[in-house]
This record gives sequence, structure tokens and C-alpha cells, in this order.
Amino acid sequence: MADLNSVPELFGSLVFNDSVMKQRLPKETYKSLKQTIRDGTALELGVANVVANAMKDWAIEKGCTHYTHWFQPMTGITAEKHESFINPTAEGGVIMEFSGKELIKDEPDASSFPSGGLRATFEARGYTAWDPSSYAFVKEGTLCIPTAFCSYTGEALDKKIPLLRSMEALNKEALRILRLFGNKTCKRVTTTVGPEQEYFLIDKDLYDQRKDLMYCGRTLFGAKPPKGQEMEDHYYGTIQPRIVKYMHDLDVELWKLGILSKTKHNEVAPAQHEMAPIFTTTNLAADQNQLTMEVMKKVALKNGLFCLLAEKPFAGVNGSGKHNNWSMSTDEGQNLLEPGDTPRENAQFLLILAAVIKGVDEYQDMLRISVASAGNDHRLGANEAPPAIISMFIGEELDAVLDSIANGTPYDAKKKTQMKVGVTVLPAIPKDTTDRNRTSPFAFTGNKFEFRSVGSSLSISGPNVVLNTVVAQELSEFADELEKSNDFNADLSKLIKKVIKDHKRIIFNGNGYDEDWVKEAAKRGLLNLKTLPDAMEHYLDPKNVKLFTKFAVYTEGEMKSRYEIKLETYCKLLNIEVNTMVEMIKKDIMPATFSYMQDVSSTAASIKQIAKEAKCTAEANLVDAMSKLTDELAARTANLEKLHIKATAESDAAKQARFYADKILPAMAETRAVADEIETMLGEDYKPFPSYGDLLFRV
Ligand code: ADP
Ligand code: MG
Repeated sequence: MADLNSVPELFGSLVFNDSVMKQRLPKETYKSLKQTIRDGTALELGVANVVANAMKDWAIEKGCTHYTHWFQPMTGITAEKHESFINPTAEGGVIMEFSGKELIKDEPDASSFPSGGLRATFEARGYTAWDPSSYAFVKEGTLCIPTAFCSYTGEALDKKIPLLRSMEALNKEALRILRLFGNKTCKRVTTTVGPEQEYFLIDKDLYDQRKDLMYCGRTLFGAKPPKGQEMEDHYYGTIQPRIVKYMHDLDVELWKLGILSKTKHNEVAPAQHEMAPIFTTTNLAADQNQLTMEVMKKVALKNGLFCLLAEKPFAGVNGSGKHNNWSMSTDEGQNLLEPGDTPRENAQFLLILAAVIKGVDEYQDMLRISVASAGNDHRLGANEAPPAIISMFIGEELDAVLDSIANGTPYDAKKKTQMKVGVTVLPAIPKDTTDRNRTSPFAFTGNKFEFRSVGSSLSISGPNVVLNTVVAQELSEFADELEKSNDFNADLSKLIKKVIKDHKRIIFNGNGYDEDWVKEAAKRGLLNLKTLPDAMEHYLDPKNVKLFTKFAVYTEGEMKSRYEIKLETYCKLLNIEVNTMVEMIKKDIMPATFSYMQDVSSTAASIKQIAKEAKCTAEANLVDAMSKLTDELAARTANLEKLHIKATAESDAAKQARFYADKILPAMAETRAVADEIETMLGEDYKPFPSYGDLLFRV
């Protein structure tokens, strides 16, 4: 275990962060770089050369021989191509060099990354460009430079560019609002995110014995073990020594990378855990979350464990999510979602709250799309995670305030007082309301919103691009209206009232897992987009294209490419799942079952030879039942294969995805059901791979 006193020293030791820059760069260079980071201006090559050289010297001291541009293509994971610092000398030796040009730009071959048709194959070049707002860091002997990745013609091919653009859009519109409230000093509004990361840990040796985990990251078979999560004894339970060691090692590695790992605990399902970092700027939070997922996997392997990040690795127990805690704060340190102490501050808070309410209501589809994936579809709406219906929880207190404002009804019935925008002070809103409602997809928790539908393996960029852009849109609309007002207070009040009245349907403080909510939501006209193909039908709706192009977050072309990629990825994943399922049935499950049946049959035959009275009905019944089940399994497998051929023959991505969702997934479930029933009859020594009980309880 690390020496407690060494943690402050350890923290950020592998990061070329602000204090390292200050220490190692000439004053003028440091100043130019800071200005570039702050204003997003271009960096002069001369300055870049000095920065690159300092970075290289620092990295070599940390044992680096290579550098890489580290980027986030549309695969959802990170990409790197390592280049060594060596440069030949005339004397036949080498020197270690790293130029400003190499720091700023690289040209990886883009043709093997998903582009959704954006990058025609004759123009395979793409380039990566340094993002100085995210710190360079050292990972396993390589200096990693966070970069953006785009096509040669400038279209975004990654998850970072749109995120930076959306943060810029929100900054601009939020500043307009702050100016209206008399703030003349604030220079920048940034969005902040703290993503809580859930994960499963299983034994690596057991993992190696299951093809479904290896190929798909989730189990495709598995009968319910005798014990599941019904005892509710895992959540916040004592952490067992092997996991304590893992969590400690994880903290140390994350801290070295400057990641503010703060909270760790056992989650609801057996073998499930969570890590929550202290929040930071969204761009950095997104980079750090990608890194966190990678480190989680690596530290697991070093501990003989395997870390599963899939949204639903096991049927019948809770899946994993990634609560995206989101807020906005000024460069002066004000959290814009913190209700203030004065009527003026509260009026500003209410206006921003109104923007979020309106945004979530108008762009429910985009929020749902931002968390749609083949894996997350198994989790949303399964009564363990928020439903697929997007709604907002704001708590009863705040709800009563909004009611009073919108309807002019008394807020405090006894005192008959009414809430008036800009005049009354908000009552104290309880900070930690999270325990009151864990079923809401989008909950206000005192001074931030918690978007709970995000899946555990997803990059947080997508959901935050949508959040930032949607709120930018509403703030821009509000600013347009209020900037031309002659009576600010009256118009502000009118605006807030109207927004609450028009968009109140999105607010739901009840139990999101309740069947009645599905009916109630339908009555309110809220969307219930159950699967990715359902959600994607809305992606290119004119209102959505208009939104993202207005703020130049995406071009229409970029949206079309993302649409294609998302559907293609879904189909590819399901294709792998079907292939894996069929292979496991034919090569593992069937042979194991036949051996067992054979052994039981020959046992019965030998018993009958010795014991003349023996009827061996138990053996006969078992073999009979198993034989029926294997016939059934074979028939369902054949049906699945037949459907799969149809699916793969479909060339239109949207139609193919629809076919997978409507036809293949149900056929997979039917097939699995038979295999799982066989599992319950199979002798322990005959099981073809580790069971749910082994995976979940033998960590
Ligand atoms: P929970 O009950 O959901 O675990 P916590 O209070 O522990 O709630 O907070 C969860 C996450 O919210 C943490 O990652 C924390 O850093 C983050 N968070 C807190 N304040 C903000 C904020 N202003 N902006 C973004 N994230 C925040
Ligand atoms: Mg939470």
C-alpha cells in the first residue's frame, strides 16, 4: 500500500500539468500557452517548439522513449500510434527529439477508422491536432498528447471535436445571460462533469473460459444462480481483501494520472463496484473517463481479475451505468446551478433551470439517442436503471416553487405566500436528494443535474455534446428575447412562467420503474424509445439538424456520418453476438449435454445389468427431458441462423438494425432460454463453462 504521505506527491506525477509547465517553461512561453488554452487561439510554431522540447525532456525523465497523439475515434475507445523520439545523427548515432510540429499535428491514416462515409477512400488522410486544454500524460513509457481527430477537409472524425464545439456554444450563450443579470466580469462559463463509473470484477481464469465474455463483453447464457442480489447485502457491503487491493492499486494509478478518484464502494449486484471522481471541466472529464476505463481493465489483469464494463454483463442482476453529473460554472467560481442567497441570484438560477427543463423536453429524442447502444438497450427500462422514457426529477420542494410561479398559487399554503421571480428568496433546496429518487433518468441533485441513463462503457462525450448544445440553444433563445426587453424583471418573470407551463410535462418526481409511469408518460406525449433503432429514427429530424448546425457543433454531413456509424456499430455488435451464441451452442453446450446424457444412459444400462429390479426411471426421465431440450435447442438455433442470414443480407443500415432489434434479439432470447434450462439439469462436472454462480461469487 502506498505511503499516505506520498499521495500528494504521487498525484499528477505522470501529467504535464499546469505546475509542471510553470516550472519548466520560460515565462513568456508559459504565458502564450496559457493564453492559447484560455482563448482557443492558435499556438505559434516557435512557442510550440519550446513546449515540445520541455515535454520531451520531462517525459524522458519519466522513462519515455516514445510519444503518441492520443485520440478518440468513433469506435468509442481511444487510439494511439507510438513514435519514438529518436533521430539519426551524422555520426551514426541517435538523439532524442520532439518538435513543435510533431506536437501540434500528425497525419495518421484515417481509412481504417469509422467515418460513416465522410471520408471517401481516395482521401484516406486524416489528421490529429493537439488539444492544449487537456494535459499531456505518460502511460507505460509513452508520452500521450490528447488530440482531436478530423478528416483532411476538416470534418470531425472523433468524439472530442464536437464536445469542444458544444462547450464553446454554451460558453457564448451563458455569457449573454450573465451579462443580462449585470455580471460584467465573468470571462468564461465551462460545463463541469463528474462521471460515476460502475464496473464488474470477475476472476480472470474464469473469464478465459467463456467465449461470450471474450468476444462480446457480456454473457449470452447463464441460468440464475441460487443466490442473486435479493439479500441486498452487496451495496456498500464490506469490501473483500482481493477487491480492496484492486481498488487501492486503481486509485494509485489514477492519482498518478491526475484523476481525482474520490469514492469507491460495492454496488448493488454481486461482484459490482463503483468509482466516482471529483468533477472537473467536461473536456478533461471525458478524456479522464476514457483513461479510467482503460486503467480499470489493466489494473484488473495485474490482479488476476477481469473488469467488465458492459452495461448488462449478466441477466437477472443489475447492470452498470455511468451517472453523468453535470453543471456549469464561471471562471469566477460560481456554480450556475446553485440556487443563490439573493432574489437576483435566484432569478438567474430559475432562468437557467428553465433552460434545462425546456431543453430536456424539446430534445428528449437526442438525449435518448446519446445513450443508445446495443449494450445499454438491455439496461434501460429493465427496472434497475432509468426507463427509456426521458423525464426530469427536480424534487418536491422545487416543484412546488415552480408551481407557485407558473400558476400564481401560494407556495406556502399556511402563509399564503406566492413565489415571485426576482422578488422572493428561494427556500433552502436540500442538497442531497439523490436517495429520494434513483429511478429518474435526469435528476436535479441540489446544484447539478445527474444524467443517469448513460451506459457504463460509453464515452461521456456524446451525452455531454447533447446537453451542452441543448442548453446553449435555450439560453440563446432566452437571451434573444430578454436582450430587447424594456422591462427586464417583468419579461423575465413572464418568460419563466411560460416555460414552466409549456414544459411541465417533462417533470416527474414519482417512481420511474412503475408500470403506471409508462402509461402516464404516453398520456403526457413523452417519447418512449425502447431500442437504438427506435431512437435513431429521430436523429436526423429537421429540428435536430437545425440545432447542431446552428451552433456549428456538427455539420449536416457529420450528423449523417454519425447516424450511419451508430447503426452500423449496433449491427456489427449483434452480428458478433449471434455468431458467438451459435458457436457456443454447437461447440460447448451441445457436446457437454450429449456427454452427460451418454454417461447417464450408460450408467442406467450398467445398473440394470447388476440390479435386476432397478427401473432407472430417474435416469430415463432425465435423459428423456434433456433429449427434448436438445432437440428444441437445435431447432431454435437453426431458426436463429436462418434469421441471421436474412439480417446480414440487408444492406440498408437502418433496416438492418431494425431487423436485429425486432427479429434477432427475440430469437436470441428464445434460444438462450432453452440453453439455460439445460444448464439447470447438467451435472457440475459436465458444465461447458463457468456458471453465473462461479463468476459472481468466486471473485
Ligand atoms: P451520489 O449520491 O450520486 O453518489 P455525490 O454527491 O457523491 O452523489 O456526487 C456524485 C458526483 O457528482 C461526483 O463525481 C461529484 O464530483 C459530482 N459533482 C458534484 N458537484 C458537481 C458539479 N458542480 N458539476 C459536476 N459534477 C459534480
Ligand atoms: Mg449518483
